[in-house]
Amino acid sequence: MNEKIERVIRALQKNNMAAEYAETAADARRRVKEMLFPGAVITAGGSQSLKESGVWELLESSEYRFFDRTKPGMTEQERNEAFRAAIGCDFFFCSSNAVTEQGELINVDGTANRLSSICFGPKKVVMIVGINKIVADAQEGFLRVKKVAAPKNCVRLSMDTPCAKLGHCVSLLQKENPGITDGCQCADRICCEYLVSGRQRRKDRIHVILCGEELGY
Ligand code: SF4
Repeated sequence: MNEKIERVIRALQKNNMAAEYAETAADARRRVKEMLFPGAVITAGGSQSLKESGVWELLESSEYRFFDRTKPGMTEQERNEAFRAAIGCDFFFCSSNAVTEQGELINVDGTANRLSSICFGPKKVVMIVGINKIVADAQEGFLRVKKVAAPKNCVRLSMDTPCAKLGHCVSLLQKENPGITDGCQCADRICCEYLVSGRQRRKDRIHVILCGEELGY
């Protein structure tokens, strides 16, 4: 573990979050398996990091009750049920768009189902965060969303947004350092709600597994 990672982990712990290091994605997956129990009710935000680390596949095991809202062929009623299952579920899994050296989690959503679960509802929020998500501060975290996370997610989700074509937020054409909420006006915009998670009241409800490998975007 290098000094920067140690600093981030200490800062997250100081902010009342559980935080630990997993050298590889396989280690992160093993750690998640240790946390889960048979019959655990689980929901998750759409996350490339969960897919790449193999955690998503683990959640799909028949040992757990995983409400996967991304399953192909779901009816709207089934999808809504999966969204509602997040309230009071045992575990909510996701990644973070960025984690700062001050121990803050930076996240931006289009529909805010992920942000709302990070803030309230699930008993435990577990984040699998690759080393590529570490930033100096919140400002850099929001810039990371405009330069990396949003454009790549828009391509992944086939969203018709300027960043999917440009490779960065349209706001960066006008300013080097745009405001947090600056961006496009299009219907598919995935940057609508902005969250900084700082010190938590409920100790260790949020649990960050910081992985020594690059994961997601
Ligand atoms: S505001 Fe629009 S163009 Fe900018 S990153 Fe978000 S979706 Fe892309």
